[in-house]
Amino acid sequence: MAKKNNKRKVLAFQAETKELLNLMINSLYTHREIFLRELISNASDALDKVHFQSLTEPELLGSDPELKIVIEVDKNNKTLSITDNGIGMTHDEVIENIGTIAKSGTKAFVEKLKEEKDLDLIGKFGVGFYSSFMVADRVEIITRSARLEKGVRWESEGFGEYSIEEIEVEKRGTRITLHLKESAVETSNPEEDFSNQYTISNLVKKYSNYISYPIHMDFYREEKPRDKDGKVIEGAKEEVVIDSKVVNSITPIWKKNKKDITSDEYFQFYKHHFHDWNEFAEVIHLNLEGKVEFTALLFIPSKAPSNLYDRDYSKGIQLYSKNVFVMNDCKELLPDHLRFVRGLVDSPDFSLNISREILQHDTQLKVIGKSLEGKVIEALKKLLKEKREKYEEIWLELGKALKGGIYMEYKNKEKLEDLLMFHSSFNESKMTTLNEYVERMLEGQKEIYYAAAKDIDTIKRMPQLEVFKEKKVEVLYFVDKIDEFLTQNLDKYKDIKLQSVTREDFKFEELTKPNASDSTQDNHDKDYENEAYKDMLNVIKEHLNGKVKEVKISKRLISSPVCFVNTNSGTTFNMEQLLKGVNQIAPKASKILEINPHHPIFSMIEKVYKNENSAADLKNISEILFNQALLIEGYELENPVEFSNSLCTLMSKAYS
Ligand code: ADP
Ligand code: MG
Repeated sequence: MAKKNNKRKVLAFQAETKELLNLMINSLYTHREIFLRELISNASDALDKVHFQSLTEPELLGSDPELKIVIEVDKNNKTLSITDNGIGMTHDEVIENIGTIAKSGTKAFVEKLKEEKDLDLIGKFGVGFYSSFMVADRVEIITRSARLEKGVRWESEGFGEYSIEEIEVEKRGTRITLHLKESAVETSNPEEDFSNQYTISNLVKKYSNYISYPIHMDFYREEKPRDKDGKVIEGAKEEVVIDSKVVNSITPIWKKNKKDITSDEYFQFYKHHFHDWNEFAEVIHLNLEGKVEFTALLFIPSKAPSNLYDRDYSKGIQLYSKNVFVMNDCKELLPDHLRFVRGLVDSPDFSLNISREILQHDTQLKVIGKSLEGKVIEALKKLLKEKREKYEEIWLELGKALKGGIYMEYKNKEKLEDLLMFHSSFNESKMTTLNEYVERMLEGQKEIYYAAAKDIDTIKRMPQLEVFKEKKVEVLYFVDKIDEFLTQNLDKYKDIKLQSVTREDFKFEELTKPNASDSTQDNHDKDYENEAYKDMLNVIKEHLNGKVKEVKISKRLISSPVCFVNTNSGTTFNMEQLLKGVNQIAPKASKILEINPHHPIFSMIEKVYKNENSAADLKNISEILFNQALLIEGYELENPVEFSNSLCTLMSKAYS
């Protein structure tokens, strides 16, 4: 029976709210659990408000100064309630805040939803208080504003209307009670049973562990009573025991002062939060205030995540807003080449309801992302400088991702080039940076030399390296598939050109000039110029019938008779092999045949060429030289029969 002064009113929801509620009631969204995060964060906001206002109006806290959240689960009545002693709401505030969709986030959500009937949007946007109707068929709010004596009771089943009345409420704050739907309690999957105290406390840990106020929960268990000595009384009936616990850890590690955190604390957090049981290589803990305000806690792992180099690897940083978890894998905060970084960003500037769509265009996020990128690169450089061994270890794990950054975009070259490491002829058991290479460059050396092949053994057998070995010019070993392709963007390091040892032209004059102290001077005293042998080289080229672009006197061969080199631009042998390997139609590497003028075969060729009677033999010789170069290079012979015939003809001539 209604009391006389009971001004219970039934009001209709605003049209947009109705629409949203309808959606929640009928939701088949699989992550309904987010309702709890939303309600707890509302409670936390209300506590923030009363805390803030009490700084100037201490009387607001009255006899109830300890700010907290209490969650109660009642399995029998199938209810779940979340109570806070925050700022509370007046009658009008309830109508204003709960009855209408004022928030731009929710508004945007409703609009988006009209376009795309995509349930996933719920999780992406988060829809605040209304999400409780995903799990409840009736929601009750009892609230009292910190400034008023009277309280308010609001209730709704979500269908179009709600009731509101003024009532007596003892203390300030808000209590939200959800009368859980059947589908939210009697489910075979305990994770979906929201009347289960452990389900709820796990969800608190998952989403709201770092709320700055304690979240209290009573846990019920049945136990046989004990006697005075603490012994279990056999045969007695079990009694309900209540354990009161604070379920969240309150201060998140990232909000603590760096100085107060031990490396073990970081590690414990890293391990449990990111599920990586390997010690991380470096931690970056930032706290920035200013135009954009954020805290970031980032970890550089020491081992690559198992699927780091897979297409479906999902990179990203966790996003928190004022200690409340907002989303995983926020992609905008990390460039691809740093996708191995694990961590989180907490910024008060992001609302819980922010959508991934909005984030994509968010300039604040871009600013944060830029700053994170800079910090991670800085940390990597510091590791390289101060903990070289550690750096080399992680380079082997993560280096390919960094290389990928240079390969994909020229703008990353400068940022990342100092982090690159390669094996080199300087010390085969250690890796070197480009900077170290440059510091070791010989007087007169104008280029950084590299040899690219599938492995170090193959490189060491390359005839093109002979003169480099002899002159002790260091050569980088490019053995990763991506390495040589890097040079498309990494054409220079600090204005010094990266030059392949198999390219036609290399600025080697200073180094190849005979010098007095050189023990091999005798072999090199004659300066062989292409010009002097122009005609002979041309004839060989003609004999090869278009198979080579040119025939030249070699400056790089010491012991091998011949080798191929590539033209200055276009595909190299190594690239051609690699592209073939991934079934791409590979442009063929152009071949220039180089002949070693110091090899006995050279004077033989000269002799044959000059003797009119043996002119026909030069064709066979050219064939053999060409095929030899193919063999040395590791190519298949194009025509083994022809090769064999040429060889036999010459051999029989020699001994007949
Ligand atoms: P949002 O939190 O993004 O504003 P919600 O739908 O979660 O959107 O909540 C709507 C409004 O209802 C809040 O802005 C707040 O004014 C009010 N509100 C919700 N829960 C509480 C609470 N526990 N205490 C005080 N006010 C609340
Ligand atoms: Mg909210």
